[in-house]
Amino acid sequence: ERGRKLFLGEVDFLKGVVAMSGLPPADRIEVCFAGRSNVGKSSLINALTGRKALARASNTPGRTQEVNFFTMADSHYLVDLPGYGYANAPLPIVAKWQALLKSYLSGRANLRRAFVLIDARHGVKAVDEEIMALLDSSAVTFQTVLTKADKVKEAEREKILTQVRSRLATHPAAFPELIVTSSEKGWGIPTLRATI
Ligand code: GDP
Repeated sequence: ERGRKLFLGEVDFLKGVVAMSGLPPADRIEVCFAGRSNVGKSSLINALTGRKALARASNTPGRTQEVNFFTMADSHYLVDLPGYGYANAPLPIVAKWQALLKSYLSGRANLRRAFVLIDARHGVKAVDEEIMALLDSSAVTFQTVLTKADKVKEAEREKILTQVRSRLATHPAAFPELIVTSSEKGWGIPTLRATI
């Protein structure tokens, strides 16, 4: 608890952004979190920051399509990107997210790393490949975080890890090292925190 406070400091919600014009000035180191809806992104951000309801703001209706900025230790921004891959999102909405994501990822000079969250039960899906390809072409290095690792047995986890690693090998912007996490059990959270 103490170490976490010392490093991440106070983490506070700053603003939700729907257009590039709303981005805060690029005057701090920034990391972002991306993942399919329901991958466990809010839970992970909450576990990481030690604040139970911090990322809930980004899950309330109307907030889900926003790029949510949090300030961290007065020196970083933590950015919660909109969850992608909603089964029944209307096409114009999907197009709008994609446009915003694309401009954000390709135009943000202070963005040091993206964390791409992958559900430990499902591995890399087509929509994840799309975001990884976008990160490649935007030259944003990314690290893959496996979520909900407590939900799979060890043998199954190994199978998924093999699938994920083979997918990552095809993406030049991907770090080969995965971070395996469970927000429920606290697994991998210190590693993720130290990585940031
Ligand atoms: P988001 O849509 O990506 O923000 O996903 P949420 O954080 O809201 O999580 C989606 C669902 O998965 C919720 O019911 C969470 O309780 C559950 N969940 C998230 N992380 C974990 C985890 O590490 N382990 C388990 N067992 N469930 C999790």
